[in-house]
Amino acid sequence: MNNTEYYDRLGVTKDASQDEIKKAYRKMSKKYHPDINKDPGAEEKYKEIQEAYETLGDEQKRAAYDQYGSAGTDGGFGGFDSSGFGGFEDIFSSFFGGGASRNPNAPRQGDDLQYRVNLQFEEAVFGTEKEVHYNREATCHTCKGSGAKPGTSPITCGKCHGSGVINVDTQTPLGMMRRQVTCDVCHGSGKEIKEPCQTCHGTGHEKQSHKVSVKIPAGVETGQQIRLAGQGEAGFNGGPYGDLFVIINVLKSDKFERDGSTIYYSLNINFVQAALGDTVEVPTVHGNVELAIPAGTQTGKTFRLKGKGAPRLRGNGQGDQHVTVKVVTPTKLNDAQKEALQAFAKASGIDPVHPKKKGFFNKVKDAFDEM
Ligand SMILES: [Zn+2]
Ligand SMILES: [Zn+2]
Repeated sequence: MNNTEYYDRLGVTKDASQDEIKKAYRKMSKKYHPDINKDPGAEEKYKEIQEAYETLGDEQKRAAYDQYGSAGTDGGFGGFDSSGFGGFEDIFSSFFGGGASRNPNAPRQGDDLQYRVNLQFEEAVFGTEKEVHYNREATCHTCKGSGAKPGTSPITCGKCHGSGVINVDTQTPLGMMRRQVTCDVCHGSGKEIKEPCQTCHGTGHEKQSHKVSVKIPAGVETGQQIRLAGQGEAGFNGGPYGDLFVIINVLKSDKFERDGSTIYYSLNINFVQAALGDTVEVPTVHGNVELAIPAGTQTGKTFRLKGKGAPRLRGNGQGDQHVTVKVVTPTKLNDAQKEALQAFAKASGIDPVHPKKKGFFNKVKDAFDEM
């Protein structure tokens, strides 16, 4: 028996690897996806591709298909006439776990969507509310999703009587086999629409420009997601909408850095403040705070401003702000400053005779380091 139909549908040869089949399936799926390809017949083709991949994508099913044809796979078992075949049904059952067929009319949830939202540093710290706008597949407002022109309703498909599948008898080396295929009248929906809705052309869905308000809790970080149930795309056969996942992206601050609830700030002070001590104003996301710099503070020293960080997402309280001091050496000095420093050098036992000489400032720095 030569079963190549499923292979033909995916455009691969019978000796294709599983990987090649998967790749071909993705490519064909994309090409004929009803959302992308509006050609008449694309949807049918898409369904055929799905059906082929359901079998060929599974190594066991594929082996059975190669041996017995599509009678050996998937939903065929409901209608499989086992009379005269002895134990074959058992063999098939062990391959496919019983071969239950999927109900084409079962409600199916719509697709989930993702939306990336950029937050200012402070918005992420304190939380905010954002309105997000996006396009989605919504339930058609004209027909309320039925796909039928208002005033009419879909009728049960006359060919398959609503099951979405029809039985086809096939001659195989094992005898006559009955298999189920998707109904060619209703394409598996089990329903026939005599007069399609003019808005959605019978799909029950329409593109919608949608907006939703998202409450963003205080303390969120980049990569975190907020799920908004039912804000994704419309479902099928009366199934619920999918969800919207809002993905957080926190923009950089020109002042602060943040890791969890801890905020980091780098504070420049001059060497006199470092040596003699000072009180300085330090910015925090909660406003300016006075920080006492003790005399003799070294560069790299970190002070902790308790509770001046970001809120902890789960659990309570606030993180801290870490202030790391950087002592900046002056690059330009006026005469008075030079004189003062020379006096300082003299008082420290450093010879200020050759102030232009390389190493003078290093010596001054040494003098500070010793304090
Ligand atoms: Zn409609
Ligand atoms: Zn039908």
